[in-house]
Amino acid sequence: MSPKYVYFFGAGSAEGNMKMKDILGGKGANLAEMAGLGLPVPPGFTVSTAVCDLFYKNKKRIPEGVKAEIEKNLKKLEKTVGQALGDAKNPLLVSIRSGARASMPGMMDTILNLGLNEKTVAALIAKTGNPRFAYDCYRRFIQMYGDVVLGLKPVKKEDMDPFEEIIERKKHERGIKSDVDLTAEDLMDLTIRFKAAIKEKTGHDFPEDPMKQLWGAVGAVFSSWMNDRAIAYRKMYDIPESWGTAVNVQLMVFGNMGTDSGTGVAFTRDAATGENVFYGEYLMNAQGEDVVAGTRTPLQIVEMKKDDPSSYAQLEKIRRILEKHYTDMMDIEFTIQQGKLYMLQCRVGKRTAFAAIKIAVDMVGEKLISEKEALSRIEPDQLNQLLRPIFDPAEKAATVKAGRLIAKGLNAGPGAASGRLVFNSVDAEAWAARGEKVILTRIETSPEDIKGMNAAEGILTARGGMTSHAALVARQMGRVCVAGCGDLLIDYAKAEMAVKSRTLREGDWISIDGTTGEVLEGRVRTKPSEVLQVLIEKTLAPKDAPVYQTFAKIMSWADKFRTLKIRTNADQPDQSANALAFGAEGIGLCRTEHMFFGEGKIGPMREMILADTLEARKAALAKLLPLQRHDFAGIFKEMNGRPVTIRTIDPPLHEFLPHDEKDQRALAEQMGLTYEKVKARVDSLHEFNPMLGFRGCRLGIIYPEITAMQARAIFEAAAETKKKKIPVEPEVMIPLVGNVKELADQEKLVRQTAADVMKEQGVKFPYLVGTMIEIPRGAITADEIAAVAEFFSFGTNDLTQTTLGVSRDDAARFLVPYVDREIYAKDPFEVIDRDGVGKLMKIAVEKGRSARPGIKLGICGEHGGEPSSVEFCHLIGLNYVSCSPFRVPIARLAAARAAILNAPAAKKAASAKKKAAKKTTKKR
Ligand code: ADP
Ligand code: MG
Ligand code: MG
Repeated sequence: MSPKYVYFFGAGSAEGNMKMKDILGGKGANLAEMAGLGLPVPPGFTVSTAVCDLFYKNKKRIPEGVKAEIEKNLKKLEKTVGQALGDAKNPLLVSIRSGARASMPGMMDTILNLGLNEKTVAALIAKTGNPRFAYDCYRRFIQMYGDVVLGLKPVKKEDMDPFEEIIERKKHERGIKSDVDLTAEDLMDLTIRFKAAIKEKTGHDFPEDPMKQLWGAVGAVFSSWMNDRAIAYRKMYDIPESWGTAVNVQLMVFGNMGTDSGTGVAFTRDAATGENVFYGEYLMNAQGEDVVAGTRTPLQIVEMKKDDPSSYAQLEKIRRILEKHYTDMMDIEFTIQQGKLYMLQCRVGKRTAFAAIKIAVDMVGEKLISEKEALSRIEPDQLNQLLRPIFDPAEKAATVKAGRLIAKGLNAGPGAASGRLVFNSVDAEAWAARGEKVILTRIETSPEDIKGMNAAEGILTARGGMTSHAALVARQMGRVCVAGCGDLLIDYAKAEMAVKSRTLREGDWISIDGTTGEVLEGRVRTKPSEVLQVLIEKTLAPKDAPVYQTFAKIMSWADKFRTLKIRTNADQPDQSANALAFGAEGIGLCRTEHMFFGEGKIGPMREMILADTLEARKAALAKLLPLQRHDFAGIFKEMNGRPVTIRTIDPPLHEFLPHDEKDQRALAEQMGLTYEKVKARVDSLHEFNPMLGFRGCRLGIIYPEITAMQARAIFEAAAETKKKKIPVEPEVMIPLVGNVKELADQEKLVRQTAADVMKEQGVKFPYLVGTMIEIPRGAITADEIAAVAEFFSFGTNDLTQTTLGVSRDDAARFLVPYVDREIYAKDPFEVIDRDGVGKLMKIAVEKGRSARPGIKLGICGEHGGEPSSVEFCHLIGLNYVSCSPFRVPIARLAAARAAILNAPAAKKAASAKKKAAKKTTKKR
């Protein structure tokens, strides 16, 4: 049996369903699902994504077998609706729509009104008695077909579409300003001129034969999978090229048949705030893209209650049906043709982090979804948005009072952003690359702008609604966005905009509030988010902070399901306090060297480094001892018995010394030494490759008195804490160990010091001695090392550097191109390289546990706060991850998701899905 490539949908039944996204694409799968639910979907059929691959393998032609299957389905469609393609009385008109597995808004091409030609346009006029409507459809079709299928669309965005040029000329000739003033005759004339332009530019006539139109359009949709916009978008969102797009062929319905017709888009809840209200926009007497394109500012959906109460009531009903069926917030497209409502699309709606969290929490409350499901719907990085600043209310109020609130638009992407005005994407990218904060300001945005939008702090548009391209993409990227700000008169050529009576130029500062839609002139200071005001600043009571409350609920669910513990990297008592507020359960890395840069500590540190003799060094260390002890005691007190891992000195000593002559002279004077002496000492510490030089445990082995001092400071602080009846359990961590003998050397010293301190102070406290696994030899000999170490902490920054042989500080020049070329899928310093570094970690985990079954295992590299790396740590069975204080909530959620998504049952389902995916790839 040959595989099935085409799936029919229509009137109450469908061959596909929403689970078939891989084959039908998102749009096709959901059209089928809605049809199956009995919702009013114009009938049609979906040509599967598998055909996309066949198309490219077949020199960009549709294989004959598939063509036959399409023709069969076309016949079925004709029979279903009682119309026929090209029929002189009752012509069938269809749309040809792209639709991949993942939604790629506006990236690929759609063709509407296909099937029109000289003969059928006459039929359409006869049928509707509306020549203006018929010729409007016809000219739109020729235009879309010319642009997309015949390739007349300009490659460069600045260049004008040849058809738009013709329309402009026509309007000029007729002395009219707006498209709506064009008469039926004008539009008919446009179709003639359009066809002439096509003939002139391509050398071929516009195809009158509807079948020829159909094959051309289907091929063009497949071809659009490889256009530059689509390629760029896929890269940005990690969508594999191999997925391909499906093509949907669907009966046309018309929102442009008069004032009883219209078209719109809506979200079943507010996509910006998550509020449980119907949120959408529509335009009467409009077709297709008119609403999303942002060319006309649409009306709010609630207005429809008055305009067309029966369609509104029906939509409300469908809204509830869809939410219950999909158990999620949906994004829908609909069209009303002469009072009859049709559903043209539905998909799970994109939303801001605020909305994602609120909707997930609300839906648990509404018993639509479980807590686990709620967690799996929130991307850990989205929590970042909740921690982002808001405008300082006092400063904002002052700005408003000073008359600098210059405009108000739609609150399309929450948050506060301040930046300098730029008017195009290329500038946004360039300015951001040199460290400027920018607000990308456009009349409207289009898919070509995504890179600039990504580079900007915020996005401001003059046209378009909550569902315009700008709003949609900004929400997805987590950018602050104010859209549809009609008061802005933007002049791209002059790089300026007029707002009311003033003119703002490129480079001027503005501030936008994406939560309220306000646009302010100048730079308004920001302040911490609600969550931070409750947790860190403690200036806001939880009961007054609704965003905080939802956040707290999510966090409490996350803690219920995760198995990984979450620690933090903190060097100071105040950082520890922040981390605790964020839910840290211990310190996974306290870098003692950071302490040396603190108040009054760098002096004795330098003294120690410059010392000539052991005596002099010990004298300097004696000065450092009480300072370090004080810091440790502060941290122990703050952590109140939670584990604290303290690393002994790690960086090469020259990092503590000044490198230019002026500072060296100052230091010499301060220490009563000659400049020459200081310079000679600094020079002697110079290394060609400090990352692999005299650092880590190597320092403590050659200068045991340093380790001894640090251990003493730790244990004396522990004793002091214990005496205050505060529980304490330090974990002393020796860095950069590659050979068990290094660790054994330092361990002996540490244990001796512990014993001495306990005896001197007359108290006992528990403690551990362990090591970092951060060079490959350490990982490979982890069993030997575990004989001594009571814990391992993976230092994945250094482990990545040493495993890849890549110096992170020198990698920028080649690592970015490497990622572009997919040599590494992701920057390995950001996301753990599972196949290389990860494999070494796995070896170390297995060997470590084989030698010491109860060994504690953690990670303290930057990766500890990155969701995919946290998942990896979960998978290889670490006990905890440690990350910077502000990433603790992200790590908590990531750990919960890792546990939920990799639970035995979920795992089975996932692997079955993977297998199925493999099978289809093979088949293709
Ligand atoms: P995109 O993937 O970019 O959203 P769509 O395939 O949804 O593209 O189509 C673009 C526009 O054309 C949408 O506004 C859609 O509602 C409209 N459209 C598509 N098919 C039809 C149809 N059969 N009848 C009426 N309008 C349609
Ligand atoms: Mg659409
Ligand atoms: Mg290291």
